[in-house]
Amino acid sequence: MTTYVYDFAQGNKDQKDLLGGKGANLAEMTNLGLPVPPGFTITTEACRAFLEHGSEPGDLAAEVSKHLARLEEAMGRRLGDPTDPLLVSVRSGAKHSMPGMMDTVLNIGLNDESVHGLASQSDDERFAMDSYRRLLQMFGATVLGIEDEVFSTELDELKRRKDTTADLDLDVDDLRELVSAFKKAIEEHAGRPFPQDPREQMDLAVRAVFDSWNTPRAVLYRRQEQIAEDGGTAVNIQAMVFGNRGMTSGSGVAFTRDPASGAQGVYGDYLQNAQGEDVVAGIRNTVSLADLGEIDQKSHDELLGIMQTLEEHYRDMCDIEFTIELGKLWMLQTRVGKRTPEAAFRIAADMVGEGLIDLDEALGRVNGAQLAQLMFPRFDESAERTLLARGMNASPGAAVGKAVFDWATAVEWADRGEDVILVRKETSPDDLHGMVVAKGILTSRGGKTSHAAVVARGMGRTCVCGAEALDVDVREARFTVRDGKTIHEGDVISIDGTTGEVFDGAVPVAASHVVQYFEGQQVDDPAVSAVARLMEHADSKRRLLVRTNADTAEDAARARRFGAQGIGLCRTEHMFLGERRELVENLIVADDEAGQRKALDALLPLQRQDFIEILEAMDGLPVTIRLIDPPLHEFLPDFTELSVAMALADTRGHRKKRQRKLLEAVRRLHEQNPMLGLRGVRLGIVIPGLFTMQARAILEAAAARVRDGGDPHPEIMIPLVASVRELEIVKQRIVDVAREVRDETGVDLSFSIGTMIELPRAALTADKIAAAAEFFSFGTNDLTQMTWGFSRDDVEAAFFGAYLDQGIFPVSPFESLDTEGVGSLVRTAAARGREARPDLHLGICGEHGGDPASIHFFDEVGLDYVSCSPFRVPVARLEAGRSSV
Ligand code: PEP
Ligand code: MG
Repeated sequence: MTTYVYDFAQGNKDQKDLLGGKGANLAEMTNLGLPVPPGFTITTEACRAFLEHGSEPGDLAAEVSKHLARLEEAMGRRLGDPTDPLLVSVRSGAKHSMPGMMDTVLNIGLNDESVHGLASQSDDERFAMDSYRRLLQMFGATVLGIEDEVFSTELDELKRRKDTTADLDLDVDDLRELVSAFKKAIEEHAGRPFPQDPREQMDLAVRAVFDSWNTPRAVLYRRQEQIAEDGGTAVNIQAMVFGNRGMTSGSGVAFTRDPASGAQGVYGDYLQNAQGEDVVAGIRNTVSLADLGEIDQKSHDELLGIMQTLEEHYRDMCDIEFTIELGKLWMLQTRVGKRTPEAAFRIAADMVGEGLIDLDEALGRVNGAQLAQLMFPRFDESAERTLLARGMNASPGAAVGKAVFDWATAVEWADRGEDVILVRKETSPDDLHGMVVAKGILTSRGGKTSHAAVVARGMGRTCVCGAEALDVDVREARFTVRDGKTIHEGDVISIDGTTGEVFDGAVPVAASHVVQYFEGQQVDDPAVSAVARLMEHADSKRRLLVRTNADTAEDAARARRFGAQGIGLCRTEHMFLGERRELVENLIVADDEAGQRKALDALLPLQRQDFIEILEAMDGLPVTIRLIDPPLHEFLPDFTELSVAMALADTRGHRKKRQRKLLEAVRRLHEQNPMLGLRGVRLGIVIPGLFTMQARAILEAAAARVRDGGDPHPEIMIPLVASVRELEIVKQRIVDVAREVRDETGVDLSFSIGTMIELPRAALTADKIAAAAEFFSFGTNDLTQMTWGFSRDDVEAAFFGAYLDQGIFPVSPFESLDTEGVGSLVRTAAARGREARPDLHLGICGEHGGDPASIHFFDEVGLDYVSCSPFRVPVARLEAGRSSV
């Protein structure tokens, strides 16, 4: 028989799949002997069964009864007892934390009678009424699906009548009135009275939590964070402790280190006389943990002791939620805390220094995506700027964009290509759509633990929160700064998530500290030292080499500073753009062989000079140069533009012969499916002079480098090969050119000839192709295109949205390698190629070479290197290291 319910004392932190993150960690804290209010967890399995069948699994009710009875016995009180009620919280808790996405109901067990029991037991009628009105509000909104506005409007109206803005000014009579109003509102909007039976309250709340797994905002969040759809949530039922029992009570959240910078030292927010949700909602301004020390030193000291225990136990930064009830501290939650990329590196490196973890483990705690974020630019420190306000540095980065004040406008403007900053008083989970598309998020309320901060950090979005000097008026779509300046919707602002500053207008951005470090500059920044330490370890561990895709000496030099160990792909077609385009046109429109020869002769010295510079920048390291790949029509003018130009020239009476020829060429070279047309090796077969000119330029450049005392290692790569025969023909011509160059220059060059594997046929006949190739480089862009039959230039806009929505793949296969399909071809080709030629050198140069998940796959199938754009080189080095530990 399946067990659906576990007491906290029965679980542990490694059971997140079953008990959810919250439940597993409550169990762990319980077993550590920390002060956790007792309770039990209904498993994710029960949720899955409920969602599948639309009803609770048969045994669940009986199991809940058994655990509830045990809880009642432990507490010496019965749920909802009219004279002395036990109250419970019903909280969601999935395996992965989904901040604010799912439901929670507090104070279950209160009704028209037990509210008096609570009042007399606590000797505090106001507190009892306040708890009841909170239950009605949360239950109404969460379980019965009534708009929260219905309740907040009642509350606001009452406060207006009482001429106050603070909940705390409402007395017991006011709260009694509110309870009546809320009950009436529930009956009106839900068509049923608020259930007075405590067990019915609890069962309905559990159901609501199960159902909240599938709310649109939860679904969107999971898609964003790539969390599996089928996990379900656990439900935690726990004896209530009260932070709203006057000024010796309160609720707080805390981190064992600063989650924004990673600096050592506890960090947290505390709110007196409040229940948990008040703290994160940013409704009232919180005080710091140091202030808590002034308010209640005993609880403060105990809390700090527990935080240390937790950090040592989890050997990681923890975040916690706690409540103090009449001076007694209770732990309500802990988990390994979310953190910014900067903090991730710093905490991992610091913990190595503190002896808590070793370097391998530290490497596992950071990742390439985080490093990529640290390489984003920051505001140029020397630039002029006008400070509008200062808030909390909640999530780092430099964001510039137009201010928008609601999520719908954010989405609409971002869709038309504008950069936007979403400005709110505080964010709620409903704002998620806007947060996803915004460059940055700015709020006027809430601390580093507010919803805005937590979600922004999770998404890697720049965020400044709690900028109290801003008076945000969402309805009028504007904010006013205390000294008078007003920013309207559409005005550009800049926010610095690293310092918490908000600026008027667009502040210019400068390179990140981490990039400056990779560029070889001295930078005094603890996050940079942490990156350096972990990169060094990654380099010492990795088996995969990392090369770069670079077509200019400048890119090659930068990539080399970033740690590239050679060039894996130099796309030579990029050298034919700009003013050289005309020379290619000459080649295409040439009437005869002599004309072609002349055009190629003009290109040769330019190409040679390009290669000399690149080989110099990569002196001593391998440089894979790919012969021209795209269809030639890409070098010709657009048909319509050309026709118009000709028509205009006509009317002025000087129709040009060249234009006519170009137009003819455009017509002649037009293809319905150019990506499947005359490109790659096919060009080499049809217009042999082009490939041999390039081969000559490469080899002459290498000879020149040798004569200048250099150490060139050119590798000539043939694209889009499908059959070994194509490769053999082209290779023979290159070998002939090489002999000529050797005879002409007297330099005996060493170089290699290899091919790209970017067509399924090439992958499947890799053993034959390997006979003619010294190396393979997987062109996973084309290999993905040709395997899926997706036009790489069109599909993302055309229909990938629907594919992602419907879960056909979780992420575009052009972004992260489809290991199942395309990966299977890579695996096959690598194995067959190496069988035929054991010393075959294998690499990858498609975009996937810089994608963390794909890098782990390439390591596993035994490639020798990955090649990626210069800015991705550090990311690839780190991920290759992580793949080895
Ligand atoms: C590839 O196809 O993966 C590749 C690297 O070549 P290109 O992107 O230039 O087609
Ligand atoms: Mg390609």
